[in-house]
Amino acid sequence: MNDINSMCFLVVIETQKVKSYLFASPIMREIRGASMLLDLLNRKKTKEILKTFNPNDYELVYLGGGTGRILFRREEDAENFKNKVLKTYRQETVTARVSVEIVPRKKDDNGETFPEWMSHGVRQSQQNKLGQSKGIPVLAGRWVQPCTSCGQEPAEKILHEHGEHRLCRACLLKRREISEHLYKEIKSGKKRKWLLSPASKLISRYTDRFIFTTLAQYTEDRGYRIFLPQDFDDIGQASRPFNYMGFIYADGNRMGEVVKALGEKFTDEEEAKLAYKAFSEIMDQATREAAVEAVLEVVDIKKDRFVPAEFIMAGGDDLMLAVPGHNALDVAILFMERFQEKTRKLQDKYIRQGRLPEPFSHEGLTTSAGVVIAHAHYPVSDLMDLAGELMKIAKTKAARLAETKKEQTGTLDFIVLTEAGSEPIKDRRKDEYTRYLNSGLEIKLTERPYTTAKAHWLLTTIRDLKSSRIPRSKLKSLYPVLFQGPMQAQFDALRIRERLKVTGDLKRSDSLNRLVTTTLPVFPFRKRDDNCWTTPLTEIMELYDFIQPGKNKSTMNHYISPEKEESHDRVAV
Ligand SMILES: [Zn+2]
Repeated sequence: MNDINSMCFLVVIETQKVKSYLFASPIMREIRGASMLLDLLNRKKTKEILKTFNPNDYELVYLGGGTGRILFRREEDAENFKNKVLKTYRQETVTARVSVEIVPRKKDDNGETFPEWMSHGVRQSQQNKLGQSKGIPVLAGRWVQPCTSCGQEPAEKILHEHGEHRLCRACLLKRREISEHLYKEIKSGKKRKWLLSPASKLISRYTDRFIFTTLAQYTEDRGYRIFLPQDFDDIGQASRPFNYMGFIYADGNRMGEVVKALGEKFTDEEEAKLAYKAFSEIMDQATREAAVEAVLEVVDIKKDRFVPAEFIMAGGDDLMLAVPGHNALDVAILFMERFQEKTRKLQDKYIRQGRLPEPFSHEGLTTSAGVVIAHAHYPVSDLMDLAGELMKIAKTKAARLAETKKEQTGTLDFIVLTEAGSEPIKDRRKDEYTRYLNSGLEIKLTERPYTTAKAHWLLTTIRDLKSSRIPRSKLKSLYPVLFQGPMQAQFDALRIRERLKVTGDLKRSDSLNRLVTTTLPVFPFRKRDDNCWTTPLTEIMELYDFIQPGKNKSTMNHYISPEKEESHDRVAV
């Protein structure tokens, strides 16, 4: 056992994930390759570098989810390690940016606790990250042509497939990674399919804590292997309505607070370190497993075992996921529920195994998500920005509920993107969805963001309305009415309700009757408090076409494998 007190140099690794590298091009294969290389470097190669040091001189706290926390006894070793990590990232990716920060432990009289040190290290790393100037790659010489994928780096190689492509080294490496390691291309007749590599192969290249390893393990446990999409259109084609994709961006809630609480709860140095380690690992495992379960249970995997979903990034407390448009909300909700459930159960497991002294969060950790439903050809990096904005709005609600009501729950916000707006979503909500009466009463034309429980209610309401076969046009006539001045909105909405009564629609549909009478007593609104009225009708209409009849998926459902039929291109497991 190392004497932790003599390990005074913390190395904080933070991958600078997104735009410049992961989404350098809009092509799925390259985004996927980028994500895989980041995982490979973070989970595997960084560990291999570490193993070149004397095991008595360092201690690995955590590596994963694009981050790393490693303790060193001597500053020169930390420095040496840092340089090797930076060099490896440059060699293997050319353009990915990683920040490696050496943070000595504060040594004043009442020095910092272990979790405080970790938090202080992460803060310092983030500050320096912000301060760094963004390197702009210079294309040397006019005769060099830029890469047709990312447009940033000089092209090195020309490929001929559906026209001419000139690729830079970074983009070539991304493509090579997936074609050599992720799947096997199979031709059946004229169709090409991409069979996910077996879990055993993925483990040896990427470790067992890699999202595609988790995916392969889940399906192999159930006796089959799956085929992957090759571009975002493949996902859009599985959507009803056709050609829509849902982009989900989720992130753990109040992680800083949890780490801070660890410091207060575990005053013993060794226990605090153990708890910090357990916290990091549990979060990472829960993210991967919850994401895979949510996709396999919600997304329709037909007999051909094709899974129309892309795990763009899954690790640490981060998830980026693309699924068919009509599956997006069900997947997001199920993911959030499973994440919380798993973080709770994993704590028990860790305690039983002696890897955690006592629970750090009795109710489990929660996560918040932003969901954008848009045409499949919409650039994914833009979808990520929008989903990120929505996720932040959702997170403020989760934080408020945790502080004021001691309620630990996942929350989500969402939009159906029909037209691109340049205005931030926060402003749009204020301008388009908020009205004020002279009396000071605030009228909100939306109830977003939702808790997971309320999101279930929303989807159930839409599903009930759909199954009661009320003509869609009758419901949709309410939508424009809501955006008028509040008085006019009430007047016109009541007129529509009256018409629904006269035509017998309310009698025919219990769910519609309930919605327009008891649920919304000051139709089309309900009172949230004395100063604010709200309505969920706008999101019911906006989502209406994207929610298919059936049951909500919940944590109670059990996973059913697609039929294992024999076919000519069946591949033995
Ligand atoms: Zn490129």
